[in-house]
Amino acid sequence: MNIILLGPPGAGKGTQARRLVEERGMIQLSTGDMLREARTSGTELGKRVAAIMDAGELVTDEIVIGLIEERLEKDKGAGFIFDGFPRTLAQADALGDLLAKHHANLAAVIELRVDDDELVRRITARSTCAKCGEVYNDITRPIPEDGKCVVCGGTEFKRRADDNEESLRTRLMEYYKKTSPLIGYYYAKGKLHSVNGLNDIDRVAADIAAILD
Ligand code: ADP
Ligand code: ADP
Ligand code: ZN
Repeated sequence: MNIILLGPPGAGKGTQARRLVEERGMIQLSTGDMLREARTSGTELGKRVAAIMDAGELVTDEIVIGLIEERLEKDKGAGFIFDGFPRTLAQADALGDLLAKHHANLAAVIELRVDDDELVRRITARSTCAKCGEVYNDITRPIPEDGKCVVCGGTEFKRRADDNEESLRTRLMEYYKKTSPLIGYYYAKGKLHSVNGLNDIDRVAADIAAILD
């Protein structure tokens, strides 16, 4: 079963994707994580996209489609969670073609709905475990008092360079201009399910589970 998690920055896509990986053995494909990996490994691609990402703009369709294509070849046969991809209509068309090529289909597109004020609150309080990528939040999901990641015991946590109010404003505008048309696109294809992303993490997870089962 392949699904897309769709929603603005901070909606909870990464948090929910990690739960689905743990609970259902699905494979998370986050283009944001792949691009950040490329940056830290200092590849040519990483250098090319760094400034664009820090500014909060979208990198080119060609780059992210290439990344997804590579992973679909490599991890054949499993259920994918597309997290942060597609983000444009061109990416959505390309994903449709790639899935068709692999004789795979799309079970559902889950839209996480969260208003802008809450997104700003969430993003400016976000941190992740440097070792395993577990997502934390200063307010709603704090790092345990002993300073150890609940998943891997790691003690180093980091904040993203683009998790500041200025880049976030650009990221939100990019979302409304370029990504939100996908809501209509997948509605027309009969794939769209919307979930209230303002609920707590467990409730959102339960609502997603109900859609998938
Ligand atoms: P968020 O958690 O805020 O939704 P991501 O980690 O998914 O953000 O993405 C971080 C940045 O990486 C984006 O602002 C953009 O620059 C780039 N990026 C990630 N996925 C895509 C994509 N599918 N298309 C274009 N740019 C992308
Ligand atoms: P996205 O991948 O969509 O950008 P994340 O999963 O990284 O979003 O979540 C953004 C921030 O909000 C993180 O700090 C996370 O801990 C927190 N968060 C995620 N889901 C919820 C929720 N349902 N309620 C409150 N905070 C949440
Ligand atoms: Zn960890």
